Amino acid sequence: RQADLAHLKSLPAESTDGQTVRLFTNTGLLADITPGLERGSEGIGLYRSEIPFMVHNTFPTEEEQVRIYKGVLSAYAPKPVVMRTLDIGGDKALPYFPIKEENPYLGWRGIRFTLDYRNIQLDQIRAMLLANIDNDNLQIMVPMLSREDELLRVHALVDEAIKQLKEEGYPVHKPSIGIMAEVPAIIWMLPRLRDYIDFVSIGSNDLTQYILAVDRNNPRVAHLYSHFHPAVLSAIYHIVRECRRLNLTVSVCGEMASDPKAVLILLGMGVRTLSLSAYKLPLVKWLIRHSNMRDCRVMLDEILDLANEVEIQERLELKLKEIG
Ligand code: PEP
Ligand code: MG
Repeated sequence: RQADLAHLKSLPAESTDGQTVRLFTNTGLLADITPGLERGSEGIGLYRSEIPFMVHNTFPTEEEQVRIYKGVLSAYAPKPVVMRTLDIGGDKALPYFPIKEENPYLGWRGIRFTLDYRNIQLDQIRAMLLANIDNDNLQIMVPMLSREDELLRVHALVDEAIKQLKEEGYPVHKPSIGIMAEVPAIIWMLPRLRDYIDFVSIGSNDLTQYILAVDRNNPRVAHLYSHFHPAVLSAIYHIVRECRRLNLTVSVCGEMASDPKAVLILLGMGVRTLSLSAYKLPLVKWLIRHSNMRDCRVMLDEILDLANEVEIQERLELKLKEIG
């Protein structure tokens, strides 16, 4: 099947009624770079910067980070690369920095951790800005954000990093800054955050976990974890509409973006940017090229009336069969 899809590389992800979707890839390791480029990715929509931290034995130095980030930015240049700041905690542990908590998913995760370890965050931002000098294709994304003051503190850190680097003689400037929509509080915060962000990316993995209060990795409750739960879909639809109203670019970078059934829903909601695993990109592109956005929109209304994720998935299965 993948082989049949190889010819799609240079074709646009355009629906049968002429609407185009931008397809980006998710990465974390340098080894992930080539698969995306080989499949015609338009850029990196989510670079999980914690992954290089997780495979090190200590916190990587600023120089090491510059080298790693430069590798990614230059491989994709001039295509954009969205680098997420360190998102450790929860399920993402650093072997050399154990965090013991009763409730790791509700604890010291993502931006909460790095704002408490200001120097780690400052070093990382400095490294990203330095790595960006040659190609200027960096965008920075903040994980686990739930408050306006956190965002203001991130801006202050970026400004400080820029000031330091300029004083050191480097020609750096402020990149676009966006946030992950993955803590449910964000659903109601977008108007307040609008002036401080350039884009929003929906992290459907954590958003699902937090809306449903179901651990994303616990097999005991795995049957309750579904991005097709009507509450999750309503939340995502709300975020997408808010972003449209506020004139903010919105994308989806969680697993939903590589799940064909979920992609049909996202298209119906008006999502036109997805970031997904490189290996799923050809299939999703094929699906978009065989879908009609107006049909997806009509089906969405039907789906939002259904009682639960089982009925919703049955409806989507039917649609997939119809498409082929
Ligand atoms: C998400 O939460 O959906 C996401 C993309 O981030 P991660 O899976 O790295 O937590
Ligand atoms: Mg997440």
